[in-house]
Amino acid sequence: MGKHILLLGAPGAGKGTQSKRLAEEFDLEHVTTGDALRANKDMDIGHMDTEFDTPRAYMDAGELVPDEVVNEIVKEALSNADGYVLDGYPRNIDQAEYLTSITDLDAVLYLDVSEEELVRRLTGRRLDPETDEIYHTEFDMPDDEEVRERLVQRDDDTEETVRERLRVYEENTEPVVEHYRDEGVLVEIDGEQSPDDVFEDVADTVDSA
Ligand code: ADP
Ligand code: ADP
Repeated sequence: MGKHILLLGAPGAGKGTQSKRLAEEFDLEHVTTGDALRANKDMDIGHMDTEFDTPRAYMDAGELVPDEVVNEIVKEALSNADGYVLDGYPRNIDQAEYLTSITDLDAVLYLDVSEEELVRRLTGRRLDPETDEIYHTEFDMPDDEEVRERLVQRDDDTEETVRERLRVYEENTEPVVEHYRDEGVLVEIDGEQSPDDVFEDVADTVDSA
């Protein structure tokens, strides 16, 4: 049976970067609510008794998309996966409780990065729309000029929205980190090392899970 890995960390901590590599090297499904929501930004959620009619309205403001929407996405994705690495969920205590009710976890990892570094990483993040590869204006640019020229910035990676996302993280998601820490299952990883060194720690933890 494939492993069930949960990767926690603030926005910009490196969850996407590490999850992609983990998924490849350990043959796991990469389940990420952020990507799933971005692919369905304009889906009609009006029937769900939510404040806004689409995920876009929440995402562009840096707020959490309602639990009923994301819980459904995660349930569907996990039921189709053998082993998985889950990234971007749960983001509040209710989602954490829902997750406990639908699956079990083999390891819970937390990438620890300071707020100052998070802002630098998020505002400099760039994406390749063709490959979904993640880059950074200062820390990691592609050598190929053609790739460099087609890179895009996410709508919500602007300074103002980044501040709001970090506030939402502190209020809603830090309690989730505390929850797993209290349970004694949280493995904390220094997320400020180079991507390769972070991956070494991540892979060691997953290996022994
Ligand atoms: P990052 O890891 O950079 O914060 P994500 O791609 O995980 O960004 O999420 C982008 C946006 O998608 C969030 O700001 C939020 O609006 C929405 N989102 C993603 N995952 C969830 C979730 N589990 N619950 C609620 N909203 C979510
Ligand atoms: P998350 O999914 O947690 O929001 P990402 O994996 O998208 O984070 O990384 C955010 C930004 O930081 C990206 O631009 C990425 O290239 C960069 N980044 C990721 N890991 C590191 C690292 N260890 N050192 C420096 N920059 C990094």
